[in-house]
Amino acid sequence: MKFLQRANPTTQISIGLALMTCVLVLLANALFGLFVNGEDERARVRRLFGESVAVQGAALIRKGDIDTLSSVMQSLVARDPQLGSMAFRRDDGQVLVQAGDPVRWWQPAAATGKLTSDQMRIPLFAGKAHWGDFELAYRAQTSSPLAILLEQPVLPLAVFVFIAGLLGFRIFMRRVLQHLDPASVIPERVRAAFDTLVEGIAIVDLSGRIVLTNKVFQTFAEGTELVEGTQLASIGLRSTQTEASTPPGQPMPWVRAMAQASVLSGEAMQLDMADGVRELQVACSPIHDAQERVRGCLVSFADVTAVSRANESLRRTLSELQSSKVLIEAKNLELERLATRDPLTDCLNRRAFSDLGDLMISRSVRDATPIVALLFDIDHFKSINDRFGHAVGDRVIQAIANCLQQGLRSHELLARYGGEEFAVLLPGCTPPEAETIANRLRLQFAWHCREHLLPEFPGLEATVSVGVSDLASESTGLHQLLVRADTALYQAKRAGRDRVCLYHPSEQQLIV
Ligand code: GH3
Ligand code: MG
Ligand code: MG
Repeated sequence: MKFLQRANPTTQISIGLALMTCVLVLLANALFGLFVNGEDERARVRRLFGESVAVQGAALIRKGDIDTLSSVMQSLVARDPQLGSMAFRRDDGQVLVQAGDPVRWWQPAAATGKLTSDQMRIPLFAGKAHWGDFELAYRAQTSSPLAILLEQPVLPLAVFVFIAGLLGFRIFMRRVLQHLDPASVIPERVRAAFDTLVEGIAIVDLSGRIVLTNKVFQTFAEGTELVEGTQLASIGLRSTQTEASTPPGQPMPWVRAMAQASVLSGEAMQLDMADGVRELQVACSPIHDAQERVRGCLVSFADVTAVSRANESLRRTLSELQSSKVLIEAKNLELERLATRDPLTDCLNRRAFSDLGDLMISRSVRDATPIVALLFDIDHFKSINDRFGHAVGDRVIQAIANCLQQGLRSHELLARYGGEEFAVLLPGCTPPEAETIANRLRLQFAWHCREHLLPEFPGLEATVSVGVSDLASESTGLHQLLVRADTALYQAKRAGRDRVCLYHPSEQQLIV
């Protein structure tokens, strides 16, 4: 069956016609008996033979020449291997003469009284009276049904008709199809015009079979014989599976175009060729007849492999660029962090604090809102370093940084201003409010050291002093603000440490 499906339509039709002719011959034979049945013919010949021996035997018996009859019968049985026995039996049952082995071949009939198809009894008469019988028995033959079938004389004829018919019909069909080829009705100049196109062109009929192709398309079908009737899909075309393209299992685009009776374009398809996968852009235009019925489809294939490869490479480059951009941005962030943050505490460094602090003060001046500066300085830090070591000193610096980071809000500015000094800017805050905040932070730090560092380092107690100053006049800048806060800090140190002091202009003059 596979062979039949693979065979081209001409061969398929020829086989069909040859089989039909065979069936007609067999039918005619069955209806009109054109050929004699082998079995009937054999029975007829045997009957003629039997009658002829009976007649001649009867003549010899009349002459009394029994010896001649016996020797003739013996030689007849000896010559024919199918002959089992023959005998002349008188009416009273006595055998006058016999040849062969009647006991084996005739006896069964004598016993049952019924003759088989291999046995024959010819009655002999003397005048009008029954004289006796001539008995003839052939050896019983058991033929298989196949052997019986093969003996039929109509069979060789049927085989001959099939083979000769197949060859004859095939030659005839090819000749006829050359004239009826739908492609041949397309004028040569139309074909030539198609051949000048840079796109592959295929015209298919309603069932998707190729009617016409141009030269470019034929290059796509390398190795596949593009005879009329070949399915267009059989050259190995498949839809490109992308999110935007047709889902798997969809009919081919030309089948859909004919079903919808509308033009389909931009269908992405792929074709495996010896030099790699070809990317094709396929457009399908249904062809209508005079009654506006769809009769076929013109399918064009634009080879976009080069463009597609260039696009792919561009996409790859873009994606690489994108990743390096992300990498550069991360590096820049890292650099910015390194440039603006203190590595030990992650607080802003002094330079970043200056830049942002200047902006914050300008905004406060512009909006006429208050702003205060706080300077925190750990008390007797040198002695902590001396008693517990530099590493523990670092832990204490981290502890105050932590307390300040958690105790301040996001819009407030915090920086590590010196070794164990931290500067804070609180926009929108008055000095009394700032004093409260500073005291809260101071106590929080002392508590933290007691809770977390003292158990680990017995005897370690740390406190902090804070100086607070506010923006006195519009001309005051960050530097001046911090100088004043430092003055207030100095006051706090002088007053016994572990406290908050507000800046008072009179004291400044006193110190200066
Ligand atoms: P005061 O109460 O008057 O502020 O006394 P103090 O000892 O805290 O002040 P001083 O300015 O004399 O000492 C500050 C010490 O801080 C000196 C320096 O060795 C130490 N220091 C500065 N930066 C760091 C640092 O990053 N880590 C550590 N462990 N110590 C530091
Ligand atoms: Mg100090
Ligand atoms: Mg100190």
